[in-house]
Amino acid sequence: MTAPSSQQPTTWDRARAVVPRGVSSGHRVGWRQVFVRSSGAYVWDEDGNRYTDYLNAWGPIVLGHCDARVNEAVFRAVSTCDLTGVGPQPGEYELAERICEAMPSAEKVAFCTSGTDATMHAVHVARAATGRLKVLKFHGSYHGWSDHVAVGSSRADLTADSPLNTPNSNGLHPALVDDVVVVEWNDAAGLRAAFERHGSDLAVAFAEGYVHSFGCVAAAPGFLELLRALCDQHGVVLVFDEVKTGFRAALGGYQSVCGVTPDLTAFGKAVANGYSLAGLAGRDTLMGHLGAYSKNEATIDGTYNGSPYAVAAANRTLDLMVEEDVFTRLYALGERLRAGIERAIADTGVRATVTGLGSEWCVYFRDTAPANFREAQESDAGMYQRYHASLLSQGILEPAFPTGDRRLNAATTEDDVDATLAAVHVALTAAAEG
Ligand code: PLP
Repeated sequence: MTAPSSQQPTTWDRARAVVPRGVSSGHRVGWRQVFVRSSGAYVWDEDGNRYTDYLNAWGPIVLGHCDARVNEAVFRAVSTCDLTGVGPQPGEYELAERICEAMPSAEKVAFCTSGTDATMHAVHVARAATGRLKVLKFHGSYHGWSDHVAVGSSRADLTADSPLNTPNSNGLHPALVDDVVVVEWNDAAGLRAAFERHGSDLAVAFAEGYVHSFGCVAAAPGFLELLRALCDQHGVVLVFDEVKTGFRAALGGYQSVCGVTPDLTAFGKAVANGYSLAGLAGRDTLMGHLGAYSKNEATIDGTYNGSPYAVAAANRTLDLMVEEDVFTRLYALGERLRAGIERAIADTGVRATVTGLGSEWCVYFRDTAPANFREAQESDAGMYQRYHASLLSQGILEPAFPTGDRRLNAATTEDDVDATLAAVHVALTAAAEG
């Protein structure tokens, strides 16, 4: 790798002078690099260094960066009919039809622009449908920034005995936490107790069927089934937040893998390979509560919702996923990577463990796979920092914090994976050296 040039601080300084902390999304801090080009499996910084990208914009890039076929579909759409603000947008209902076909919970679909929008609408629909207020969610699971779900997932104030339902940041309405019930992931007894105590006040229960908010943590056997049964018993709307797993764990989302069907599904990210599209899917009876400015219905309204460029990107992305059997490829590559990391951990004797699903994985610097948020935070931060720095210096881009999940895209090759495994070997040794 070439040494950083004196250009890089200048770029950050210039950005920081006019954008808070230099970025419009908090997760983009943690690197000194400035990326100026991307293609397929790779990104390049402004000094010309190439990195194999396992961040993939925190999830959306699933086929590969700057996919020419997706870009071509977008160009065609916006050259034909761009935003009109009237009636259905071209391609919108075709995309909804495809999602209804692929995703078990989807009888109707409405589009919006971000995962934050989608989870916010899920809360509104559930409240309109049930006439109740409270939200149940799991500790550490991130569902975006609307006040009623931005609770109980901050790493910043987490101690062994800190309360579960604290707001994720300043500026959120502090009184809202009284309406949010937070349960530790995989705590079946805690989940039963929460439903016993609050069941008749709960409008909605949120879960990432497979948790990526703190790496890669599966549900314990029977846990999702228990959640489904408790929601049914207490008349609570079950939402799967598939913003990360939708169109990445499978075309039909993680629900098509685990066999538990939620009432509503929030999705986003990979559906459009980097274009800003998200949505809410669900049972017709619930989705029917989405109207506009009615006292009886929740509202969906957004200038860019279902916009032709994003919808065209999604339709083409979904075509290619099917035509190229993308999920078989993503799973095979992910499996090769995780098996290789496991071997590297055994060879180096470093105290670490790797978990994951399909194209996603996480390396925790602890003996065993974590079952919940608190256990995930016990990953050794110093070891992770050295591991991350070593990988970055070897041209591998991964999250800058220990419990970040990483993922590959379908343009990644077996050779890329094998080169990454050689780098992981070096990085594990560096992590242990302290
Ligand atoms: N839900 C989950 C599980 C997420 O991982 C994210 C973002 O990372 C969101 C919701 C929010 O999505 P967005 O960043 O598109 O608002």
